[in-house]
Amino acid sequence: MQTDKLIFTNPATGEKFGEMPMTSPETVALYRQEMGRAAAVWRQKTLAERVRILKQFQGVLIEAVDEISAVLNQDCGKTRQDGLIELFITVDLLHQYCNHAARWLRRKSIWPGLYFFRRYYTEQRPYGTVAVIGPWNYPLIMVLGPALAALAAGNTVIVKPSEVTAATGQLIEKLLQRVPDLAPFVRVVHGDGRVGEALVRSKPELVFLTGSTPTGKRVSQVAAENLTPVIFELGGKDAMIVLEDADVDAAARWGVWGAFFNAGQTCMAVERVYVVESVYDAFVERVLHYTREFKMGYTPAVESPYSLGPLTFQRQVTIMEQHLQDALAKGARILAGGQRREMFAEPTVVVNVDHDMLLMREETFSPVMPIMKVKNEAEAVRLANDSQYGLGAYIWTGDLQRGQRLGQQIEAGTIVINDVLSHFAVTQLPFGGVKQSGNGRVHGEQDLLQFTQTHAYAVGRPPLPFDIATVLRQPGYYWLGDAVLKLVFGVTPRQRLEPLRELLPAELPSVPPTTRRTANNLATAGTLMALATLLLSIWRWRK
Ligand code: NDP
Repeated sequence: MQTDKLIFTNPATGEKFGEMPMTSPETVALYRQEMGRAAAVWRQKTLAERVRILKQFQGVLIEAVDEISAVLNQDCGKTRQDGLIELFITVDLLHQYCNHAARWLRRKSIWPGLYFFRRYYTEQRPYGTVAVIGPWNYPLIMVLGPALAALAAGNTVIVKPSEVTAATGQLIEKLLQRVPDLAPFVRVVHGDGRVGEALVRSKPELVFLTGSTPTGKRVSQVAAENLTPVIFELGGKDAMIVLEDADVDAAARWGVWGAFFNAGQTCMAVERVYVVESVYDAFVERVLHYTREFKMGYTPAVESPYSLGPLTFQRQVTIMEQHLQDALAKGARILAGGQRREMFAEPTVVVNVDHDMLLMREETFSPVMPIMKVKNEAEAVRLANDSQYGLGAYIWTGDLQRGQRLGQQIEAGTIVINDVLSHFAVTQLPFGGVKQSGNGRVHGEQDLLQFTQTHAYAVGRPPLPFDIATVLRQPGYYWLGDAVLKLVFGVTPRQRLEPLRELLPAELPSVPPTTRRTANNLATAGTLMALATLLLSIWRWRK
């Protein structure tokens, strides 16, 4: 039974360009069962076979470039070029997974320590079925990125795109169906938060959520009922720091871009700026200069003269206006922008801001750049860290060493020196947050690994009598455990040498007969262990 409809609306024009039914709770449950069964088949395929199938999907994505950029343009109001950038990074990610999965997911040998008569290694196994819940701001990459990583790692996937960009969700489903070998291992459910919640309640083996921090908390509560693990990629309030030795013009130019790109609706957007007082005036002047260059508008054409499109839906308008009103009421001043025509909000520069304002504390997620004057780098770092969020941070300085040193003091998942946003395009650089910005890491090896569980193996013949692991199972060897503990792990020379002191010649009057016996036993055990180590090393070396 279908419960509701999703209407596709172009935020730039208000035009309705399609609709589709929401997925019913019954269908969510059915898909969950299907994907559970399919997981057993998908994980049995060799990695090479999975990669072959995913490469076909890569081909489909490239083939559909114009179709994809057109839907993103209608669904979000972003330019076709910005839609292309989203697709570009998605394809790059998939390319990395396909090329490196064999190495990243390989079996890894583990150093045996004292227990060297067995071989130890770890193996990565998929979770089973992963629920991928995505946002509307980058509705293609934030859904397909984790879904493809989860598939490459051997999971089946159920994705839930945002209701706000349901047309992109529908397109994602169509694209996946174009690869018949892939289609049986992935499902798309369409709808709002209720559908997302039904998916989380359907007990997938893992949930991957990209969304806001409040949604993260709600999903966490529901997932906790079944102890379902959740990977979070949540909101941000990224700080940009401009130091007195920075290239102020470049900081202003790219800082403005980082604040206004995608109408500020980017998780790692420049959301607040701290400028050292000696360059504050010059920075603000350059910011206003570059802000004036932003051309706002919309076209469905492939080439666009515009660098700023509309806000994607009404909730963003409400949040932006609430933050601006709160800031103005508390003494902030708007130096540029501040007006809105329907869904198009002017790029807005705000000064006289402080941390009592929502604008400096909560995610605004719209084209607003608040700038705060600070005394020095210490104050900038303190304020940058005064946030519940910790996704990224940007530092502008002429001294790269200084930038890195400051970066180490900043509580954020990514630190960028002298640029903004571009790190996301580096598809092997881990991306994710700390604090309430999340716990996941997309891109690269950690991305694939987070969709697997580590299984450990200990492999060998039945216990050997002289293996320390065997000896210490038997009663009467306290003395040996004590001696090995000190010899191997002693932290001072005295601790380490203590067992050896007991090997002193018998004629020394201070050595009692029991100690001599202990010394002899110890020497025998030590010799056997040394011999065994030698033989094992030779055997391993010959293999
Ligand atoms: P939301 O948190 O509103 O929604 C995210 C997804 O969760 C949507 O599909 C939403 O459905 C779904 N959802 C909502 N409620 C529930 C629920 N109770 N149970 C399960 N699923 C639910 O985020 P937005 O879509 O507004 O996206 C913007 C946010 O995402 C920003 O905070 C941004 O910073 C963050 N983000 C983080 C990124 C990162 O990498 N850290 C990247 C991109 C965005 P529906 O929309 O249909 O209601």
